[in-house]
Amino acid sequence: IRAQGKVYYGSINKPLRILGTLLDITEFKHLQQQKDDFISVASHELKTPMTSIKASMQLLDRLIKVDPSSDKIPQFINRGNSSLNKMQQLVDSLLNVSKITAGQLTLYKTNFLASQMISECCDHVRLAGTHELELTGDTELELYADRQRIDQVVVNFVNNAVKYAPESNRIIINISKQDDMVKISVQDFGKGIPAEKIPHLFERYYRVDTSGIQYSGLGLGLYISAEIIDRHGGQMGVESEIGKGSTFWFTIPLN
Ligand code: ADP
Repeated sequence: IRAQGKVYYGSINKPLRILGTLLDITEFKHLQQQKDDFISVASHELKTPMTSIKASMQLLDRLIKVDPSSDKIPQFINRGNSSLNKMQQLVDSLLNVSKITAGQLTLYKTNFLASQMISECCDHVRLAGTHELELTGDTELELYADRQRIDQVVVNFVNNAVKYAPESNRIIINISKQDDMVKISVQDFGKGIPAEKIPHLFERYYRVDTSGIQYSGLGLGLYISAEIIDRHGGQMGVESEIGKGSTFWFTIPLN
């Protein structure tokens, strides 16, 4: 409680009257704490790839001086590049949130094949080779949407499936038509999410406490995805069963 006021004294120097306001700042403190936590997580998340880039550059510098034609050079360049990509993704997430908060998320819609967009945007998972991606359903369905933004949602679902479901190497992406909507779902076979956590998943900064296991992230991906889908006039949801896995899905209107 924050108190503010003034004390009025009587002639014998005893308080006669106290006039003021009491303000409950519990919610304010909670938001402030959330912001402070976010800043420390975001700084830490940015520092990890930055340290790796710095180390790669220093090693590269040394290596070029010693042996300019070393076959290890591409390896360090790749390592630096992938850390730079990670930093770019983090900064993009932060910029996206600012745009959403300012109501400035503009959509540029075009027609494109859903299956083609999915194949292209999930190439990095195929290259990494940790998970098998199965694309099922109606692969001929066309979307009329902001391709880059929908790509971002699919990549977020798929990256989460890779990150939070390492125990199975299978991910199924399904495309289907439901009345006048297109539905795209990403199913993993990981640990699943406790039912009481599900209503909070799309909140800004929300992350499920994974008791001990440290996964990197800012808790922004699903929040940003939900906003993108909402702006397209669609819906987003998740079904999950402990021990069986999770299916994240979204719908957007057909043309
Ligand atoms: P981040 O991955 O950066 O934490 P997200 O908004 O993408 O942010 O996800 C929010 C939280 O939802 C994650 O921290 C994780 O706990 C949970 N989550 C998301 N996808 C999955 C999944 N496929 N399986 C289990 N948990 C998930």
